[in-house]
Amino acid sequence: MTQALHDMGVADLVAALASKAVSSVEVTTHLLDRSAHHQHLGAWLCVDRDGALKQARAADEQRARGDVSTPLLGVPLGHKDVFVTRDLPTTAGSKMLTDYRSPFDATVVARLGAGEPGRGPGAGTVTLGKLNCDEFAMGSANENSAFGPVRNPWDVTRVPGGSSGGSAAAVAARLVPAATGTDTGGSIRQPASFSGITGIKPTYGVCSRFGMIAFASSLDQAGPLARSAEDCALLLGAMSGFDERDATSAQRPPQDYAQAMRAVRPGATASKPLAGLRVGLPKEFFPAALSPAVDACVRAALREFEALGATLVDVSLPRTELSIPVYYIIAPAEASSNLSRFDGVRFGHRAAKYTDLLDMYKKSRAEGFGAEVKRRIMIGSYVLSHGYYDAYYLQAQKLRRMIADDFRRCFSGCDLIAGPVAPTVAWTLGGQGDDPVANYLADIFTLPASLAGLPGMSVPAGFAAEGDGRGMPVGLQLIGNHFQEATLLHAAHAFQQATDWHRRAPVLEGA
Ligand code: GLN
Repeated sequence: MTQALHDMGVADLVAALASKAVSSVEVTTHLLDRSAHHQHLGAWLCVDRDGALKQARAADEQRARGDVSTPLLGVPLGHKDVFVTRDLPTTAGSKMLTDYRSPFDATVVARLGAGEPGRGPGAGTVTLGKLNCDEFAMGSANENSAFGPVRNPWDVTRVPGGSSGGSAAAVAARLVPAATGTDTGGSIRQPASFSGITGIKPTYGVCSRFGMIAFASSLDQAGPLARSAEDCALLLGAMSGFDERDATSAQRPPQDYAQAMRAVRPGATASKPLAGLRVGLPKEFFPAALSPAVDACVRAALREFEALGATLVDVSLPRTELSIPVYYIIAPAEASSNLSRFDGVRFGHRAAKYTDLLDMYKKSRAEGFGAEVKRRIMIGSYVLSHGYYDAYYLQAQKLRRMIADDFRRCFSGCDLIAGPVAPTVAWTLGGQGDDPVANYLADIFTLPASLAGLPGMSVPAGFAAEGDGRGMPVGLQLIGNHFQEATLLHAAHAFQQATDWHRRAPVLEGA
């Protein structure tokens, strides 16, 4: 093998495993050893060496029998620790769920892995373990995990982004070829951008939320983080699809994203694969406060899109700024309701000492939840309370609809929207001090698509050439219309055929 095993992406591994150039046991062992060697990154919350090797052996045996019906057979993966797993603990990054075991696998986990009895086979991936994340997926830096922060492999003094920070760091550091994540307001796109990898949040409803620990149910969506659009397409094809156990699951025919990604556009040529594609640039996504280094990378990427045949058009999303207060009312409102189940009785942590039932609830929740989760429960309970509901929650819902309408207007004049993922590159650990609002403001470019339920993607677009954070990765965000994941993946794939930002790897300490 000329390529190191950890440098192989999902598509590379599928090919190498199919040709028997490598076995799943070999690659699994290599990545387990590499993960053990880079524990300082804090990416994993649990690594299941024995379980992973058992799955890898089973995958190799299945292949030896000539059964290759499972498309990702033997490819190692990690799951964000908000997906429940039967064979591994699930914590959601919270002390509240220390030692919690789910009696079943999340649909996404089952579909990527071994499948479920009566529901068909899964894609055959091997689960190496569970990846660190912000507590209940609340955060943008992975600093809200009860089990410690994650470090950015490009600069270990910086955050990897969040809340899927463990997933992003593990993929960037080549500990796994790909990982699952969830995105409520940016938690796939922003860590992908901060860590120099590719991630896609599909349209709300494309991936089942069954078995995904709920943060804000009207926004939560699962998706893959990987190194390329092609690898994301392979994972998304396996993860997505209707599930009757999720009431908001979209009933649509299954899609082969990897094939759709390669489809030739009418009028396209080999040198102009994006001919005819209209890319909308919302002026609100390029404010004066945008970091010059981010602006430079995003604009250079857009010039590449033009070189590939796309046409850039000016559009406007006038309520972009309002998406911050709207999201930070709706998401905490839903969280305060979803998290009421953690009462010390049915799940997770229970205080050791209490006087009566109410005291038990209070102490269990006070001890189990971290500061950010408590803050959101308080905000959420406040905006839903009698007297404030109309002023805050109802108003936010009305604005949410108007934000979605703004996108609808934009998409009458363009096929996808492009801009930065975040206003800056990854900040230093502890760099935002105790200021939660600074964290919230950094979500400005990812929240609008979340509120509108639209698919969004982060694509590596270069490295900051100047300023604080020089050398840190910068992502380009692509937003599509509902169910236009294939358009996003197609555009990202064409861009990645012409650029090599997604192939750059960080140099790890003691690598
Ligand atoms: N940063 C946002 C928040 O803290 C988004 C998190 C997410 O998408 N899970 O809520």
